[in-house]
Amino acid sequence: MITTNNPFNNKDIETYKLHTESEVQEIIDKGANAFKDWKMKTIGDRTDMLNKVSQLLLERKQEYAELMTKEMGKPISQSIAEIEKCSAVCDFYVKNAAYFLADELIKTDAKESFISYDPSGTILAIMPWNYPFWQVMRFAAPTLTAGNTAILKHASNTTGCALAMERLFIDAGYPEGCFQTVLIGHEDIETIIAHESVAGVTLTGSEKAGRSIAALAGKHLKKSVMELGGNNACIILEDAKLEKHIDTIVMARMQNAGQSCIAAKRFIVVDAIYDEFIEAFKKRVAEIKKGDPMEMDTEIGVMARKDLVEGLEKQVEDSIKKSAKVTYGYNNDGNYFEPTILEDVKPGMPAFDEELFGPVAAIIRVADKQEAIETATHSKFGLGTMIFTKDLEAARKLISDIPDGAFFINDMVKSDPQLPFGGTKASGYGRELSQEGILEFVNKKTVYIK
Ligand code: NAP
Repeated sequence: MITTNNPFNNKDIETYKLHTESEVQEIIDKGANAFKDWKMKTIGDRTDMLNKVSQLLLERKQEYAELMTKEMGKPISQSIAEIEKCSAVCDFYVKNAAYFLADELIKTDAKESFISYDPSGTILAIMPWNYPFWQVMRFAAPTLTAGNTAILKHASNTTGCALAMERLFIDAGYPEGCFQTVLIGHEDIETIIAHESVAGVTLTGSEKAGRSIAALAGKHLKKSVMELGGNNACIILEDAKLEKHIDTIVMARMQNAGQSCIAAKRFIVVDAIYDEFIEAFKKRVAEIKKGDPMEMDTEIGVMARKDLVEGLEKQVEDSIKKSAKVTYGYNNDGNYFEPTILEDVKPGMPAFDEELFGPVAAIIRVADKQEAIETATHSKFGLGTMIFTKDLEAARKLISDIPDGAFFINDMVKSDPQLPFGGTKASGYGRELSQEGILEFVNKKTVYIK
């Protein structure tokens, strides 16, 4: 059984029965059967349906946003923005899929030779609760449009969202079996990965889950994409325009109650601007409006689950034991975690070494730019780095020093359907979005005609 719970009022929302072994088998078989017809459809047929998904998302925006907010506590304005972004990613692939998937001619000694981007089968998606619609749609829009079918195993606490998305694809006209939700514990996932009709698996989630699923994918020789945790550095150089960027810098940490893989987690601030930065940062943090996540003007709601609050508190406590100092916030109440500023953070503390998945800003003081870069790259994760500085030319020269999947200058790391998204090192591998994303789960077939 799965029981979903509203983290704002702690009331249970709904109880769902897990699928039995034979029901799981049925789901796998339906996906395999649907693939036979779906892969033969033209890209135009597939984008027509995706277009319908985009429209339905907008029509049902309020309903879906409320469902997300109820299940994981995100402020409703951010839930609405998430659904709009889901619609936009559909529109992006409606517009570009035919171009991305067109045969790619390559001149050789053959009469004709080219790469044909063929669908590969059913793809299993294991997804997290923090952006319950977005994480799924950024996978599903390109992957289905490339001609694959999909099985979603969502995070248990967002099961209502998982089932709403299954309904969404059916209502948009997708044939039965194209997009299905499976309700199982993650311990039972191997049966699906092992099945011959399942061509690949994508996971967005923690490093721990990534290591476990990547190992299963390796065991069964299945293609995999891993979108894992992050510990993004946000470097503030002495010439940063704080007045202009402070909103962005604060929201880079605090949006979604800090529960974002690409959030700024380690603020690496050069000495010359340190005091000015702390003052501006604190002032903006103090203005963040907390409240009922269902209210439109609430900027920070609650964290998604009690165990997540407790885990984060332990990381903060362990950092304090190693001489980090709370200089703002940390007056937590139930699932509400007050935005917190932790100064004197150093390597060796959880606040530096680990991902803090909540509204805690770890601040690190450094002497200069060189130390800032060394400190930023001193991480097992590699999702993204951001830097704030007036000197764009000098910042460009740092591009090759950043070993991450993204480097943002004067903005927060964020995803955009037009640009590839993904990490390096313990943040995973593979890319979503853009042309890179739609080509992850296709068979890049060489065709040679003499
Ligand atoms: P999580 O605990 O790893 O869960 C993610 C998904 O994996 C859920 O469906 C979960 O199912 C399943 N899962 C958990 N442990 C597993 C295991 N050992 N084997 C197989 N599946 C497992 O992560 P989360 O708490 O939902 O999400 C937060 C993490 O996701 C953070 O580390 C965050 O940085 C990362 N994230 C990364 C990205 C990205 O794009 N790189 C985006 C968003 C989030 P159950 O619910 O049944 O446990």
